[in-house]
Amino acid sequence: MYKVRADFPILEQQVYGKPLVYLDNAATTQKPRAVIDAMAEEYYTVNANVHRGVHYLSQRATDLHEGSREAVRQFIHAVSTREIIFTRGTTESINLVAACFGEQFMHEGDEVIVSVMEHHSNIVPWQLLASRKGIKLRVIPMTDKGELELEAYEQLFNEHTRIVSVAHVSNVLGTVNPVQRIIQIAHAHGVPVLIDAAQSVPHLAVDVQQLDADFLAFSGHKIYGPTGIGVLYGKEEWLEKLPPYQGGGEMIGHVSFEHTTFNELPFKFEAGTPDFVGTTGLAAALHYVEQIGIDEIAAYETSLTDYALQQLRTIPDMRIIGEAPERGAVISFLVGDIHPFDMGTLLDRLGIAVRTGHHCAQPLMQRLGIEGTLRASFSFYNTMEEVDALVAAVRRVSQMF
Ligand code: PLP
Repeated sequence: MYKVRADFPILEQQVYGKPLVYLDNAATTQKPRAVIDAMAEEYYTVNANVHRGVHYLSQRATDLHEGSREAVRQFIHAVSTREIIFTRGTTESINLVAACFGEQFMHEGDEVIVSVMEHHSNIVPWQLLASRKGIKLRVIPMTDKGELELEAYEQLFNEHTRIVSVAHVSNVLGTVNPVQRIIQIAHAHGVPVLIDAAQSVPHLAVDVQQLDADFLAFSGHKIYGPTGIGVLYGKEEWLEKLPPYQGGGEMIGHVSFEHTTFNELPFKFEAGTPDFVGTTGLAAALHYVEQIGIDEIAAYETSLTDYALQQLRTIPDMRIIGEAPERGAVISFLVGDIHPFDMGTLLDRLGIAVRTGHHCAQPLMQRLGIEGTLRASFSFYNTMEEVDALVAAVRRVSQMF
């Protein structure tokens, strides 16, 4: 795995005279040369607006853009490219479902089930819908280890339940939620499920057909692609039933002042000029990940995370936040009563980039009775030596307090 580091020029640098140890991959990943080059190449040689042009460059840009959609379809094993909608990221994908599904299928008193460990982007869109339509949020609780309580989840269903929306992998606890089971239970009640796959698609194989997910969202920038591009997968049968999200060019069939018809899937949900260079970058990123192999990535990151957990636990007063056995490449922790912000700032001076704070999961922090954590999150380009550097730095900083 170590040889892949050469593909990420940014990792070679020093910060404050120390080698950069980048452990903030859950927030955003670095980009390999292949992604940056593919995007630069498109701007240098192809750039033209997609879909509407008859000229050469426009057709090439369109082919690249639609080829990227096919790359996404293959990566998550969707049936058809009609089910792949390009968005700005996970946040926009969830907002799209909340707005369109909510508009079509939810009425006052209806309920959405989310979990206690959701990112704000899978809470607030539903709250906005709640204030518009009078719907209610029901929350799946978790154990102290950070596992969702499936029996309590089942109890939440009633005749008002319209949709379930849960994270595949928690960006704080690292818990890999049993989404296949969660989906089976929801389907047994006739309820569709949206999976927030922001933290899973980059780290483990995700097959939307095998999961039987109705909707699934992820962000390009967390899987080595560019910022500003993301995906909403939706089963065709659901997407057909939803109204458009935004109005504008591209999403229409025919427009007159009297009546407008809408384009077919997936364009119905893609108003305006799409980020066609972003989609090229995303496809290059997925291709890069496929070349390494998602199963190899998962295995390597698991060994890195296990080693980090084992080493961090040797530090006095270490508290790992999230002890679920099924976990991804994310470790949240606290040491004694040292404020995460203070520890994070000092780690930064030692070249170690970790995230501190509530990680956009304040309701989870409330459940845990803490204000925030330090969070180290790993990628396949991280090394065991970097884990050692993290552990040594945390030990050193904790001795200073
Ligand atoms: N969901 C989860 C679990 C996340 O970790 C994140 C980002 O950290 C998001 C959603 C939001 O992703 P984005 O900001 O790329 O839209």
